Amino acid sequence: MHAMRLNSAGGPLVWTELPDPRPAEGEIRVRVLACGVCRTDLHVLDGELPEAKYPIIPGHEIVGRVDAIGPGVGDLAVGDRVGIPWLGHTCGACPYCRMERENLCDHPLFTGCSRDGGYATAAVADARFAFPLGEAGADVDLAPLLCAGLIGWRSLRMAGEGRALGLYGFGAAAHIIAQVATWQGRSVFAFARAGDERSRQFALELGAAWAGSSEEMPPRPLDAAIIFAPVGGLVPAALRAVRKGGRVVCAGIHMSDIPSFPYRILWEERELLSVANLTREDGVEFLRLAPQVGIRSRTTPYPLHRANQALEDLRQGKFEGAAVLVP
Ligand SMILES: [Zn+2]
Ligand SMILES: [Zn+2]
Repeated sequence: MHAMRLNSAGGPLVWTELPDPRPAEGEIRVRVLACGVCRTDLHVLDGELPEAKYPIIPGHEIVGRVDAIGPGVGDLAVGDRVGIPWLGHTCGACPYCRMERENLCDHPLFTGCSRDGGYATAAVADARFAFPLGEAGADVDLAPLLCAGLIGWRSLRMAGEGRALGLYGFGAAAHIIAQVATWQGRSVFAFARAGDERSRQFALELGAAWAGSSEEMPPRPLDAAIIFAPVGGLVPAALRAVRKGGRVVCAGIHMSDIPSFPYRILWEERELLSVANLTREDGVEFLRLAPQVGIRSRTTPYPLHRANQALEDLRQGKFEGAAVLVP
């Protein structure tokens, strides 16, 4: 197999030939068909995540076809198309696993961070954490659903039922969640970087009721806001934009420091919370919902060996929607 492997924090990724991995008990091996590029991959590259191990093959939005099966795998067969997400393994025994909050497991493995992921021609996964994808939809279009979609969906649920929803940072996750939220009958207020006219237009095309810069106040107070951009300065901005009792959800795994802010913008029962990882239930629920919504992913495909370029383009905000690597 070939992989774009990250040998140490700071990068770059290196095209590497490796022996084909053999699936152990409970594992599957897939031939990778497509793998999405997520902002978290930049945090792995930059050495910002304490849970990351190096060397590592990044990539946790894997669409693949099962081509080998380890002992003890009952419900997947060679030839099945599956999705492999960020949550790669949980212990099943810690207090969080036992209270059905496996996203907070004390001993997890994360695909493309603490176990090898999908920037490769092949990948091995714990079969219990792979989602059957069926045959509907193109590989490249499905890839971004596996993190941008899934964690976006968990964030949307945590944002509550409010009708006026703000999305800060209009990248891969927001472009999917904006479609889900409008389908649910909510009004989306999109916030992009000041001067980012392209993202603003993109949000309006996807049905946003309003799109402006993150330095602006929305035309009406928001019921809730989700922050997808890794920018701590957006936390006070979003708190100012939500109504009394409103909620601000931080959806990313890493964020720059949050500047101090006056207590009065949190006062009146505004809530600030974070979303960590996903549960398998989130995945099953979202992947069932996605075809009903008719989500259209906006993707920019790159050949696998161009992964460094894809990451750099993501960092620079050079494309709308999501980059996807194709082996
Ligand atoms: Zn656990
Ligand atoms: Zn991700």
